[in-house]
Amino acid sequence: MFKSGFISIMGRPNAGKSTLLNAVLGEKIAAVSSKPQTTRTQIMGVLTEDDCQFIFVDTPGIHKPKNKLGKFMMKEVEAGSDEADVVLYIVDASVFNFERETEVLDTVKSENIILVINKTDKVEKENILPIIAQLSQHRNFIEIMPISALKKDGLDTLLAIIKEKLPEGPKFFPDDTLTDQPEKQIVAEFIREKLMRNLNDEIPFGIAVTTDLMKYDEEKDLTKITATIYCERDSHKAIIIGKKGEMLKKIGSQARHDLEKFTHSKVFLELWVKVKDNWRNSDMMLKNFGYKEQK
Ligand code: GDP
Ligand code: MG
Repeated sequence: MFKSGFISIMGRPNAGKSTLLNAVLGEKIAAVSSKPQTTRTQIMGVLTEDDCQFIFVDTPGIHKPKNKLGKFMMKEVEAGSDEADVVLYIVDASVFNFERETEVLDTVKSENIILVINKTDKVEKENILPIIAQLSQHRNFIEIMPISALKKDGLDTLLAIIKEKLPEGPKFFPDDTLTDQPEKQIVAEFIREKLMRNLNDEIPFGIAVTTDLMKYDEEKDLTKITATIYCERDSHKAIIIGKKGEMLKKIGSQARHDLEKFTHSKVFLELWVKVKDNWRNSDMMLKNFGYKEQK
């Protein structure tokens, strides 16, 4: 059975969220928090094992709502934690303060919280138990795990715990998916995955997807996405579209389902199919599709 799911990493600033993620993913990505966000969630990294795919998602910084923007961000945080399969709530054990901590913890809506006590390398063991005791009196956690993200202590166990909690699911991304991908590329990847799933071997290799537009409408809570599916032949185009457009409709509706989970919003998805002769040999197209230049 293959498992996959979205894991939201939350906690106060400096708790060690980025450090944990980098450690888990093997230093492959940098912090991506400086990127502008067009949707509410951002994929921070994807870790694929033989029988499991972990999709780590970032939620906007958690802080007390002081103004309208702050309130909006809080709403996003709550939405994010609602949708994730598992929330990792990271606590910095070296600066623990119950009031400040629960102020943030209380904004997490999910019932699937794994409490991660971080920076255990920095504190005496006997100081960790009281933190756990206070927090678990305050809130239910599905698991509690002390780690040191910096020293990479306890990370294998943490991953095993997360895996246990993830639902059965598909491999959303190819094995070698780079982390820190721009959002649009991830969206294209979701659509490509559905194409592959539905078309089987009918159209080998010659398909690429670009996301042309991705726009979130706050008022309607709707993300509008326009994407183009490129194939190499007219006959391929006909197969992708299907009889009376049925195949494309099916692919679109499956992709939309995933995209709604990814964006935490309703999604209006518009798909176009275009024939582009021999796109694989075109430098421009390759760059467009985000493939690395080959030497
Ligand atoms: P974030 O704001 O939650 O993403 O926190 P960062 O990952 O940026 O970490 C904030 C600081 O805490 C950095 O200086 C990290 O090196 C440090 N840090 C993170 N994890 C640990 C840990 O397990 N032990 C120690 N001693 N420091 C850590
Ligand atoms: Mg960070």
